[in-house]
Amino acid sequence: MPGQHVFGNRVGTNAKQQGSQNSHASGRQGLSNSYLYHTDSAQQSATGALSNSKLISRLFGGSVEKEVEDARVRAIKLMEEAHSILQRDGSEFIAFVMKTFFNDDSPGKRKAWIRDLEKVLSVARAAEFPRNLSWMDSTAVAELDMRAYVDFAKYARAKERDPKEAKKDYADERKSQFLKVTKTQWTRNKAFGADHLAQTMIHEFSHAALDTQDYVYGDIRNDDLSQLYQLAQGTLGPAGGTKLLQSTVQQLKNGKGEAFDSKSEGGTLAYRNADSFAYATAYLAHSGAKGERQARFQRLKDRVVT
Ligand SMILES: [Zn+2]
Repeated sequence: MPGQHVFGNRVGTNAKQQGSQNSHASGRQGLSNSYLYHTDSAQQSATGALSNSKLISRLFGGSVEKEVEDARVRAIKLMEEAHSILQRDGSEFIAFVMKTFFNDDSPGKRKAWIRDLEKVLSVARAAEFPRNLSWMDSTAVAELDMRAYVDFAKYARAKERDPKEAKKDYADERKSQFLKVTKTQWTRNKAFGADHLAQTMIHEFSHAALDTQDYVYGDIRNDDLSQLYQLAQGTLGPAGGTKLLQSTVQQLKNGKGEAFDSKSEGGTLAYRNADSFAYATAYLAHSGAKGERQARFQRLKDRVVT
């Protein structure tokens, strides 16, 4: 859809695509790990009283609004971790993650990834939910409304110059609801863990900050990232990926006669693919973590030979 990016399973596409994003072994593991959802401890007012919504939130265990906000905060944490690993020399895992998801571990690509993470981070930090959130009823869990985001970006840019002025001069843009979430899908995806929900946010924010595309998805239900690897390696079959990928490949072919080389173009397409960007970022962050997250990274490493 022009201006709209969809993350999540869809009905009506082929069965393989349809299974995407539904369930994931790492999601179940995510529930039992020790990482806490971000909480603001239902901050109390000066008199010690709780506002109604916070009281309700405390009594009934939170709301989807709050879960989306928690996922944003966790997405920032994952991106900061990945960014810090990329800036340090010596992690043996950087090249592995980059080869796996982008088929490119060159210093130039690494620099680009650092810079692009900073762009996505600045969107993630400027956003706030539920202020920038609206609901939809879709088979997709989340969607980025690019037109609404363009408005929000005016506020975000002004905020970098002068936060106080920006709040005043761009009050409407500040409230632009550029992220849409389907409550039922979100609630279902909670089973896949806090990191998965955070990764969904990285995916959506990358659409906003980098204009990434939806070429292929990782299949979270079957713990199968093969389409992501295949996109990067240029080995995705003719029927693989989304329609958007097919038409992009066709355009590249037309632009170059029949000389389109999926092996050399694969990495470029993969780097522009939102799910590749999100998975690479999350896994690089996990590579520097301990416990269950480290184990999750090791399982990826065991499966992939590059
Ligand atoms: Zn998307």
